Amino acid sequence: MARGFSGAVMRAFGAQDHLITVLESERRASHCVRVRFHSDTLFDEVSDGPTSWIRVWFPDGSGKEFQRAYTFSEVDAATGRFALDFVLHEPSGPASNWARAAEPGDTVAVNYMSSVPLEIPDDPPAGYLLLGDSASIPAINTIIAAMPPEIPIEAYLEEHEPADRELPVSHHPRLRVHWVHRAGPQSLADAIEARDWSNWYAWAGPEQGSLKLIRARLKEFGFPVRRHTHSPTGHRARRWARNGRPRTPRPRRRSTAPFPVPTVPRPPPRPRKPHPHRCPPPSPFRHRRPPAGGRPPRREDFWRHSSAR
Ligand SMILES: Cc1cc2nc3c(=O)[nH]c(=O)nc-3n(C[C@H](O)[C@H](O)[C@H](O)COP(=O)(O)OP(=O)(O)OC[C@H]3O[C@@H](n4cnc5c(N)ncnc54)[C@H](O)[C@@H]3O)c2cc1C
Repeated sequence: MARGFSGAVMRAFGAQDHLITVLESERRASHCVRVRFHSDTLFDEVSDGPTSWIRVWFPDGSGKEFQRAYTFSEVDAATGRFALDFVLHEPSGPASNWARAAEPGDTVAVNYMSSVPLEIPDDPPAGYLLLGDSASIPAINTIIAAMPPEIPIEAYLEEHEPADRELPVSHHPRLRVHWVHRAGPQSLADAIEARDWSNWYAWAGPEQGSLKLIRARLKEFGFPVRRHTHSPTGHRARRWARNGRPRTPRPRRRSTAPFPVPTVPRPPPRPRKPHPHRCPPPSPFRHRRPPAGGRPPRREDFWRHSSAR
């Protein structure tokens, strides 16, 4: 079957095809189905771990196959059995159409490429901040399941439709789930509580428009922005963003923080040595408008240069 440009790219990178066979399917919510599969060869290649995912080729009935990414929600590598959770969204595409009708014995091809399981840090942080939509809940569930019970988790989940709240979320004793109604791509970013996130780890997996705004918001809280890189499929943070700021927030000149900021005395600035090749400082005054009537310039005809000390 034709796989178009994505197929050519996969071939060029030497992606190996594995055949997977449907064993059974189970409704997990009114718009979510868990399909269990078996493969003889897939787990020779797969590194299983939180957020690990595969690329599945779904036929659309017209002789073409389309590649879509799906996260492992159950894995038994020894027997070659695993499950994928499909959110059945509308308008539907080849993947959700296929999953709706999947029956035992059906087969599809998959590739395992560029999925890197998320590492759980040895040095426990203050907490984990997880953000995503219905399609990222399978990945978020694998992260929650791998977390030590004593670490707090704050999960912000975007609700596209009321049925999203039926989607099962893994249990954790210190998990707080915040459902956020999607009014637009900014909804998740706007919902993140303005608080001290020092020494928290963040992971975000919503669609790209929301991810961009989440990045900007997390940056405001001190998370390093480059750590929220997303996958080539445009959907997924592959690594943690660790907010390594000290636990005590530093005072800011113009504080927008909602919590009281303690006043910590700053050390005096170190005296600067003049650089031998430095240009002389710019004149503290710069011409603003020509003096009226040809009179000699007066002080109010000048404005102070911003670099003047
Ligand atoms: C790394 C990774 C892992 C993923 N894991 C999972 C997973 O475990 N389970 C899962 O359900 N999805 C998962 N997704 C998302 C899934 O790959 C996409 O939702 C995919 O586009 C669905 O394919 P489709 O053929 O059904 O719809 P498409 O043909 O891609 O899209 C058809 C229409 O549906 C819309 N649409 C697509 N996805 C959604 C959605 N989630 N909600 C609402 N509307 C949508 C599109 O905008 C489009 O209008 C994952 C994505 C990535 C990148």
